Amino acid sequence: MTKYVYDFSEGNKEMKGLLGGKGANLAEMTNMGLPVPPGFTITTEACLAFLAQGGAPPEMLEEAGEHLGRLEETMGKTLGDPSDPLLVSVRSGAKFSMPGMMDTVLNLGLNDGSVKGLTEQTGGDVRFALDAYRRFIQMFGKIVMDVPADAFEHALDEAKRAKFEGAQDTDLDAEDLASLIERFRAIYAEHTGEDFPQDPKEQLRLSIAAVFESWNGKRAIDYRRQNKISDDLGTAVNVQAMVFGNRGDDSGTGVAFTRDPSTGERVPYGDYLENAQGEDVVAGIRNTKRIAELERIDQPAHAELRRVMDTLEGHYHDMCDIEFTIEKRKLWILQTRIGKRTALAEWVMAYEMLDEGLIDEDTALLRVDANRLEQLMKWVIAKQAKLDEKPIAHGLNASPGAALGKVVFTADDAAAEGTHGKGDKVILVRRETTPDDYHGMIASQGILTSAGGTNSHAAVVARGEGIPAVCGADKIKIDVASRSFTVNGTTVREGDIVTIDGFDGTVYLGELPLEPSVLARAQDGDADARKEKIWGAYERLMAHADSSRRLRVRANADTPDQSTNARERGAEGIGLCRTEHMFLGEERVGAVRQMIFAETAEEEQAAYDVLLPLQRDDFVGIFKAMSGLPVTVRLLDPPLHEFLPNQVELAVGVARAEARGENDVALRDERIPLDEAKTVLAKVDQLHEANPMLGLRGVRLGIVKPGLYAMQVRAICEAAAKVKSEGGDPRVEIMIPLVATKPELEQMLAELRPVADAVLSDASVELEHLEWGTMIELPRACVTAGEIAEVAEFFSFGTNDLTQTAFGFSRDDIGKFVGMYEERKLVPANPFVTIDRPGVGRLMQIAVEDGKAANPKLHLGICGEHGGDPASVVFCHEIGLDYVSCSPYRVETARLAAGQATVGSAESASK
Ligand code: ADP
Ligand code: MG
Ligand code: MG
Repeated sequence: MTKYVYDFSEGNKEMKGLLGGKGANLAEMTNMGLPVPPGFTITTEACLAFLAQGGAPPEMLEEAGEHLGRLEETMGKTLGDPSDPLLVSVRSGAKFSMPGMMDTVLNLGLNDGSVKGLTEQTGGDVRFALDAYRRFIQMFGKIVMDVPADAFEHALDEAKRAKFEGAQDTDLDAEDLASLIERFRAIYAEHTGEDFPQDPKEQLRLSIAAVFESWNGKRAIDYRRQNKISDDLGTAVNVQAMVFGNRGDDSGTGVAFTRDPSTGERVPYGDYLENAQGEDVVAGIRNTKRIAELERIDQPAHAELRRVMDTLEGHYHDMCDIEFTIEKRKLWILQTRIGKRTALAEWVMAYEMLDEGLIDEDTALLRVDANRLEQLMKWVIAKQAKLDEKPIAHGLNASPGAALGKVVFTADDAAAEGTHGKGDKVILVRRETTPDDYHGMIASQGILTSAGGTNSHAAVVARGEGIPAVCGADKIKIDVASRSFTVNGTTVREGDIVTIDGFDGTVYLGELPLEPSVLARAQDGDADARKEKIWGAYERLMAHADSSRRLRVRANADTPDQSTNARERGAEGIGLCRTEHMFLGEERVGAVRQMIFAETAEEEQAAYDVLLPLQRDDFVGIFKAMSGLPVTVRLLDPPLHEFLPNQVELAVGVARAEARGENDVALRDERIPLDEAKTVLAKVDQLHEANPMLGLRGVRLGIVKPGLYAMQVRAICEAAAKVKSEGGDPRVEIMIPLVATKPELEQMLAELRPVADAVLSDASVELEHLEWGTMIELPRACVTAGEIAEVAEFFSFGTNDLTQTAFGFSRDDIGKFVGMYEERKLVPANPFVTIDRPGVGRLMQIAVEDGKAANPKLHLGICGEHGGDPASVVFCHEIGLDYVSCSPYRVETARLAAGQATVGSAESASK
């Protein structure tokens, strides 16, 4: 028979699935000998059985009855006893802490008879007993029977006002409370159509049922959706003997953390409220006191609390979050769990606990969240300004960091004014963003939206690009036509400066002083910043990650500057140097168009002759910056139309010019003669593809335009030869994109290797490291990797395209429904953020295994954006890649995640 009920003494902290987090930790603390009021836990399995059967299984009721009997025995009191009653709390508690679950009911067991017994128990404290009773009716009514909370609140306010202006709940005397209770019971009867239940067993049964039912309440379901918690877990119910913090000034209740959860400092942190019960302390009904003040209020209880804190930390080896109550100077612990903390605090705590010998180095490394590391490097609003200034709007903290700039309302304006345009600082303000806004988003310092949540397009792109963002600031009313927005009476026009804080979702008018974070300053060598604990923590734990990890970490970088930056951040090479940008810019695009339009081999060659020296100089800079480290250069990948004017715009321009009899055609940023425009249009029409991303691009381009890749290889090898002859150490890896078949790669290599050989022998240079390989980004390449590996020296997984082609999703188009897909659990998490293990991951695994089997010397890496995602880095470690490559500002994150992958798998293997 299933056991549905566990006494606190029968459980432990590992039993969270069955007993819920609260129940498991109450059991653990009970067995540690800490002062926990006794009680029992009805399991999550009982909840599931209850929900399946539409009522309590009879065995469960029977077992709960037995446990209640034992609790009564232990306490020497009986539930509902008019002379000496036992009172209990009924507390929900799922495996994961979950807002939206039913709140706690306190003081259960009170009725018109037992309230007298409670008075006697407390030596005639009528006021206390009546206060407990009114709280119980209120909580039971509100929580179990859904009586509107306002109804009780109003009655309570009225009673306080009737007392005197500004009276607090503690000012109500016994007489006031007695009439308040009458009022509460009338409210109860009015809303439920029944009298307040006097039978304590009935009270208990109803409360337990209400907790179980709350598992399927709307708020709980929404929360689980949002946080990807399974619907099949169920919640447990804890029934626990009451202790009273509302028995006068020598009693009280509080919440505490064993260390400061925002700074990580080793000082207890929390709030205490005298003469109060339960949630009073967080409800803000009266001003609370700092934990440190408890020492003055009740020195022995404070000392006892400090001892409990030490015991808990020693036991859990971590920072704990505690709920406690003091009844007549006696301390009781009502809850503990591992405390949540800020990104800063988790580093400081891990470092100090390591120092204190509380945890070992591997554990410390696993304590910090690689996903949050980037936050610590972001700019922040200077502390004083943050205190002085009042925000004009609030939204969601969608992407961390502070930013300021001129307000713009369209992506095109952002692109024109921002980073790659005029170079001004801009904040892009939109209702929400779409994939069409991407070019403007990446040119902005920050993004502000009035609609959309933390998983909206704006939020996801901002986080992916490391751009601060505040989303869903719904008080902001944007009027694109008049180029302004209004919020709470303030009008902000295009060009006005705003400052946004992506850490807390605030928006300020004007320019607030921003400063680099402590960690960023320390990284730049600032001596004061280096005295801070976060720097010590960072240095020590990153060193441990670096010495533990097996994966190498490279960066994706296209220019010498990016390469230098990546190297400073610890990149051990370049995993993806894209050559497409080398085809942009005024002087180049002309030559590229000439190449595309060439009718004869001579015309085409003439274009290459222009491009060759430009490309060569680009590579020289990169090879110099990365001397001694490998650089993987990808030959041209995108469809050629990306280098041509927009087809529709051109057609419209030509038609308009013809209709008006003009000789020139005006395009977005150029004017060209009509004749030329017509020729270009004909070419563009001819090159037009229905699905360019699946069209003439990648290796297909190399095959159709053999001179193109040959020119690129020549530029690469000439650059390497030059750098080498000047004493550098270029390590070259040439990568052919979008290969689907072995013959494609074979043919390319047969054409290109002789070009490289000729250049190098002409220059009399030998390169120690010159490898040829391919990007693996098509499902067919994965499943035929065994063949492809016979001719490749390395594979680099292009997981962006691999995800698109494996799912048949266009990344630019699924934005409209991917959120709904995630919500309905139709995809595993956003597959463009974290590698989809069962699908895309499986393809990668096949490619790794078959590739290695065919060519044991094959090098393996990844260069998709997933290379900087911690969960994906762990996967890459597991399937045995040699390196991950990610954007330069993710290099530290990847190093950390790679270290954690090694240490974490060692740890789980030893378990
Ligand atoms: P939550 O999950 O919202 O934290 P809890 O079940 O912890 O809810 O209950 C909220 C508060 O109620 C506790 O912090 C504690 O102050 C009070 N409480 C719960 N059980 C008892 C009890 N047996 N005796 C006294 N106070 C209690
Ligand atoms: Mg609690
Ligand atoms: Mg690709």
